[in-house]
Amino acid sequence: MHNALERFFKVRTPPAPSLEELLQFYEQGWVSGGYESPEEEARYKEYGREILKRFREIHAPDFRLPIALERRFNLDIEGIKLIGFIDRVDKLDSGGLSIIDYKTNQELFTSDYLENDLQLTIYQMAAEQTWNLPVEKLTLYHLRSNTACTCAPRDEKRIDQARQLVLDVAENINQGNFPATEHEFCPCDFPEHCPYYRHQYIKTEEQPDRQEQLPGIAAADAVERYAEIQSQIKELEAELEEIKQSIIDYCQAEGLNRVYGSEHDISYKLTQRTGFSGDEVKSVLEPEGLWEKVLGFDQALVRKLMEDRSTPAEIKKKLETLKKITSTYTSLRLRQHDGEEE
Ligand code: SF4
Repeated sequence: MHNALERFFKVRTPPAPSLEELLQFYEQGWVSGGYESPEEEARYKEYGREILKRFREIHAPDFRLPIALERRFNLDIEGIKLIGFIDRVDKLDSGGLSIIDYKTNQELFTSDYLENDLQLTIYQMAAEQTWNLPVEKLTLYHLRSNTACTCAPRDEKRIDQARQLVLDVAENINQGNFPATEHEFCPCDFPEHCPYYRHQYIKTEEQPDRQEQLPGIAAADAVERYAEIQSQIKELEAELEEIKQSIIDYCQAEGLNRVYGSEHDISYKLTQRTGFSGDEVKSVLEPEGLWEKVLGFDQALVRKLMEDRSTPAEIKKKLETLKKITSTYTSLRLRQHDGEEE
C-alpha cells in the first residue's frame, strides 16, 4: 500500500495517475508470503484494491504534488541522532507544512491517540529542522477507512517534553537500562539478542536442539515437564472444585457442619466477611474530623492516575521519577509456540 501511494504521488506533474496505473503500482509492489492460504492472500489483495480505488476517488480531484515522499530524516537532539522516514509532506497554501503518515491499523485513531502520538511529534521536529518551515497539520491517514485523522501541531512545551524524553531514553540506554518490552509485532530483527527469543538461538555443539542443562534437567525438557505438570494441576483443580461444591451442597442440604471419610473429616463453615461503605463511614467520621485517620495511600490508585489521559503530563513525569522498586518477584508464563496462552 505504501509503495503504491508513494508512486501515485511521484509523478512529475499533475494530473494524478489513472486508476489503472495506481492498481498496476499496487500489483508490482505486492509481496506474496506470510498468508495462511492463497485464498487469504487473494482476499487481502482485493481489500487493498478497494482501499486504493476509494483513495483515488477522494484525492485525484484536488491532486497536488507533495514536497517530499518517503523522506529520510536525521534529527539531531543535543547530539542524539534519530533516523526515520516520513511518508509524505505537503506544502500548504499558507506556507506551512502538512505531515501525513499512512497507517494500516485496524481501528480508527482517537483524538487522544493523535494528541499523544510521539511519532508525529518527532516528525514535526524533523520537518521543521529539515525545511525551516512551521508544521501546521499532523495527520495519521487511516487507510482502511480512507480517513485523514488530523490534529494541530505540537506547541513549544510539547516539543520540549519530547526532546527531554529522547534525552532520558538515550541516557538510560547509555547506562544499559533498556529492558525488552514484548509487544504484538515481536520478534523484531534482533531476536538473537532479545531475552524473550534468544533461547531459540542457543545451540550447544553436542546437542544442537537446545539441550543445555539447568541444574539436573535439560532446559527444553524442563519446559515441557513444567507444561505437563501445570496441565495436570489445572485438571486436579477443576476436580477439587467440583468435589468441594458437592460437599458444601450436601452439608447445606443435610444441615451438617462436618462430614467424615475413612481417614479424614471435613468441617463446613459459612464465613461472612464484614465491610463498610465508604460514603456511609465518611458521613459519620467527617463531621467529627476523623475521616483523614482512615484514609490510606493506595498504589493502585496512583498507577490509575498515571494511566489516566486527563492527568497533566508534568504530573505524570514527576510521579514517574518517584517510581522505585519496592519488591521483586519472579513468575513463569506458559505459552504454546503458536503464541496461545496456557
Ligand atoms: S523481539 Fe525485539 S522488539 Fe520484541 S522485545 Fe525482543 S528486542 Fe524488543
